[in-house]
Amino acid sequence: MLASSNANKAREFEALLAGIHIEPMPAGFVLPPETGDSFYENASLKARAVHEQFAREGRASGVPWVMADDSGIEVAALGGAPGIYSSRYAGEEATDEDNLRKLLRELEGAGDRRARFVCVIVCIDPRGGEIRAEGVFPGSITGAPRGESGFGYDPIFVPDGYSLTVAELSAEEKNRISHRARAARCLLEQLGGGNLT
Ligand code: IMP
Repeated sequence: MLASSNANKAREFEALLAGIHIEPMPAGFVLPPETGDSFYENASLKARAVHEQFAREGRASGVPWVMADDSGIEVAALGGAPGIYSSRYAGEEATDEDNLRKLLRELEGAGDRRARFVCVIVCIDPRGGEIRAEGVFPGSITGAPRGESGFGYDPIFVPDGYSLTVAELSAEEKNRISHRARAARCLLEQLGGGNLT
């Protein structure tokens, strides 16, 4: 069970976690505000909140495994910003375009353009035990956006070892090398091929 109502996110994780069935959380479940100080804290808050809602409901099928993630981009020259604030870097109502434009402005003239995407996944087992997995995707920030695919900061992020931005890569290629793919592999290693049902 994914601690998110986003069916696209559930499908994306299902593709990354081959063999594990992942459903978005049921209608009526609520996620807490992301008040943590780290990707881990935010993912853990979401996963625990959904685990507790299942435990309170006392369904006949029992409490399922619950998984949550949190991700964002950390820029070296900005001391790791925007980090956990990536989706609202240019304000609460900011669009992806507003956020990446702000990042380019902040980096104007900067020599050091290193950045990394980070994804932390937290899984809570039916008895409340926790597994934590992290994926880091290193690269650098371009001078201007390039490419049409993906979302968020993809048009201004060039992965290490590449000359194209993530928005110029195919979805298959991104899903092979991204922070989410790396976190998913880290999770699978810890589960040792086990199942989340
Ligand atoms: P969340 O983990 O889905 O809340 O993502 C937080 C924010 O980080 C997103 O709104 C994006 O701005 C940024 N972000 C996370 N993953 C990616 C990615 O794969 N590409 C581009 N931006 C990303």
